Amino acid sequence: MAEMNSPKRMVIVVGARPQFIKAAALHRTLKSAKNWETIWVHTGQHHDEALSKQFFKELSLPQPQVTLSPTSSSRELRMGDMMHGVREVIRKAKPDWMLVFGDTDSTLAGAFAASAEGVPLIHVEAGLRSHLWSMPEEVNRVLTDRLSSILICPTDSAVLHLKREGITHVEGDSPHPSRPWVIRTGDIMHDNAIHFGSSWPEIDRGRGRILLTLHRPSNVDNPNLLRRWLNSTGAWLEKVGLEATFPVHPRTANVLENNLPAWRKELRDNSIFTTNPLGYLDLLQAVCQAPLVLTDSGGVQKEAYSLGTRCVVLRGTTEWVEQVEREQSALAHGPEDLDKLATTMLNKGRFKTDDLYGTGQAANDILRCLEKV
Ligand code: UDP
Repeated sequence: MAEMNSPKRMVIVVGARPQFIKAAALHRTLKSAKNWETIWVHTGQHHDEALSKQFFKELSLPQPQVTLSPTSSSRELRMGDMMHGVREVIRKAKPDWMLVFGDTDSTLAGAFAASAEGVPLIHVEAGLRSHLWSMPEEVNRVLTDRLSSILICPTDSAVLHLKREGITHVEGDSPHPSRPWVIRTGDIMHDNAIHFGSSWPEIDRGRGRILLTLHRPSNVDNPNLLRRWLNSTGAWLEKVGLEATFPVHPRTANVLENNLPAWRKELRDNSIFTTNPLGYLDLLQAVCQAPLVLTDSGGVQKEAYSLGTRCVVLRGTTEWVEQVEREQSALAHGPEDLDKLATTMLNKGRFKTDDLYGTGQAANDILRCLEKV
């Protein structure tokens, strides 16, 4: 146990929208932890109002001590910029630990920097796998896990994936001096959904518009495929007499802008109402009010679970397989699957959320483990 008068220093790296949300749950817990001094680094991966600034405001996140501005034009050079920037922070701050979340380029850049500087790494949301090497996120998460000393898993399947890859020290309740330590907690995004979403009135639930989000490169970078997803959604909405809200990610908006000049009107004519990316609380509320969520986002899929809304995942695979096994989510491998699956899931109706991702205390459990190192 660390001495009360000598707090451990931890660099926490965030940089993309889902990480701000994950970080919020940990921050609520860490801010009263006397044993930890934190240095927040924002890699600048997402930096505008819609994908970054509004989350700092509404989730009461601390202003990062360091904000990087990766300016290079290609992905690998931007990762290099981020890695270089984080290394500089480590050299100056000399932290005892570094912590990264999830599977973005910021995650891997942080992990490389920690490894290069010999700082032990904590990975929150370790062990998730899509088994698809074509996904940049899969590469980011597998490599980050290999570089981590503490691997915090949100599900049993995540622990199992690590075990299959030879990362096995889950026994007992204490770290091992020379082997990575695998910890099973709940999921910190679920903590947030419970924290912010549990007190809304029952009357709101499931009575609003369908929520649609699409942003994965594999779905939106090909304009024809994107169009097919939107056409399938529009046709299904017409059949069931419902409307959808579609907060459009900048990447998706860019493709639509370049390929379909009147896209907002065309979508509106098909009962799909576009908005700018929503803030977190509005997004949660939209999930809660939706009779069904259609999404390719892992985070939104989980929020649907946390708020008892069924979900069709617009991907052929998911890291959150337990929801599919329980038929709370279903996988649409392509636009042609949407009609049947959306109808089936809509007819199943809302469900009661249980403790699949814990009881909203994952961040406290993480902190309890960190007190042992
Ligand atoms: N999100 C949001 N506004 C939106 C869409 C998403 O606040 O308009 C939040 C949502 O809470 C979700 C998180 O962003 O959990 C996930 O980010 P994203 O979909 O970009 O990443 P992924 O979950 O696919 O990694």
